[in-house]
Amino acid sequence: MNKVLIANRGEIARRIIRACRELDLPTVAVYSHADEEALHVREADQAVSIGEPHARKSYLNIERLIAAARESGADAIHPGYGFLSESLRFTEACEAAGITFVGPPASVIAAMGDKAAARRIAQAHDVPVVPGGDAAADVEASLHTADDVGYPVLVKAAAGGGGRGISVARSPDELRAAFVAAAREAEAAFGDPTLYIEKVIEPARHVEVQVLGRGGGEVLHLYERECSLQRRRQKLVEESPSPGLHPPTRDAMAAAADRLAAAVGYVGAGTVEFLVDQNERFYFIEMNTRLQVEHGVTEMVTGIDLVRAQLLVAAGEELEFAQDDIRVNGSAIEFRINAEDPAQDFHPSPGRIDVAELPGGFGVRVDTAIYAGYTVVPFYDSLIAKLIVWAPTREQALRRGRRALREFRIEGIATTVPLHMRLVDDERVRSGDVHTGYLEQLLSEGDAAAGLAAQVSSVNRDGEAK
Ligand code: ADP
Ligand code: ADP
Ligand code: MG
Repeated sequence: MNKVLIANRGEIARRIIRACRELDLPTVAVYSHADEEALHVREADQAVSIGEPHARKSYLNIERLIAAARESGADAIHPGYGFLSESLRFTEACEAAGITFVGPPASVIAAMGDKAAARRIAQAHDVPVVPGGDAAADVEASLHTADDVGYPVLVKAAAGGGGRGISVARSPDELRAAFVAAAREAEAAFGDPTLYIEKVIEPARHVEVQVLGRGGGEVLHLYERECSLQRRRQKLVEESPSPGLHPPTRDAMAAAADRLAAAVGYVGAGTVEFLVDQNERFYFIEMNTRLQVEHGVTEMVTGIDLVRAQLLVAAGEELEFAQDDIRVNGSAIEFRINAEDPAQDFHPSPGRIDVAELPGGFGVRVDTAIYAGYTVVPFYDSLIAKLIVWAPTREQALRRGRRALREFRIEGIATTVPLHMRLVDDERVRSGDVHTGYLEQLLSEGDAAAGLAAQVSSVNRDGEAK
């Protein structure tokens, strides 16, 4: 591996450039017309313009990206997360062009990319799955499955992701209606109308296991992340270790993740996602065959640079650690700072950032691509920064999180900082007793929305919540 093209933008493109630089690997950035002023473009050794702002014409344009790698002499591509990171077609195109894809081989993406197919593989390897069906060929079959497992059920798109492609049905009538709409939407959004049915597990916690495969069935795990604070099935806060998971459950989940990854000959970084119910029974929901947004919390507690590990594995080199060296030290929490207005139902808030003062100090990491004068463009993901704090205990990490959140001064656009300020002071959050519906429950309480609005205006005034 001699030169790495990063087929992504924003904070994750910078994150990857940093890891490459520490390995003395030259980097190539790609950018759309909307990203000409972006930091990843300035920071990479080379940069190639790849087209119009709309992602389909740039960051999702496979032919253009392969051509950019050829033009710039890159022999490897890191896809980051989102965009083409889980695209079978992209992996195949890299393989056909003789370019190293930093991630698993096409065969693994083919096996795990279809969420219904992944369920079947999990079941075949004694990994418990959510009660449901592997694939719902038609409405009748799905009604049968729902009768078996009991309502409410979820209708899920096999190709879904990013919290999209999931709808709830509480009765046969709702299921009939949801089924038709979901198939149409899945076809439009993901190019694949395949659906499957899952029982709704609630209350549930989302706990996932980070794995690192070397191929040939050799898999390491870097323990778990708790990601239960979600809105619209999108994570907003993640932490490691998971608070309140008993050691036997934790070990059993890690073993299940290892088993599944080994079964498919996993290569590179991947995440096995589970739901955990009130009785600490756990159920596989899906595997993400890529670097996760929240990988940083695992890095902070293990001291392992996951992007460096991805690059070493892709280059066919030895890892610098073995399973026995991997230990979880202290507690790390990530707060996703999105350009969205929590006081206006999380409406996107693109625009020019006039003031951008970021937190710092001991145990504080900010992964971002913003700066004062930067304009958040409306074409892509709303994530503008990740605040990751580490401390020896969870209690101290929460306090550090609160301290760091207060240091943020972002003026010109609305962000989710005020929401996080509220969350770090929330009693249930502090006790670690949360589930995937908790944040929405909190937001739906009338006074919560009013409180947030008040906080937002106070934050805008002096950069600190009262
Ligand atoms: P993570 O699983 O790493 O927490 P998210 O679910 O937040 O990541 O997704 C990261 C990014 O990737 C988001 O921009 C999300 O919209 C996008 N994404 C993930 N999966 C898909 C998919 N199958 N199709 C389209 N976008 C996706
Ligand atoms: P995506 O591919 O969009 O990430 P997932 O299948 O990972 O979709 O689910 C995303 C989120 O949706 C989960 O973290 C959880 O909050 C919720 N969810 C998914 N499946 C279930 C289920 N069977 N019961 C309850 N909640 C679920
Ligand atoms: Mg998921």
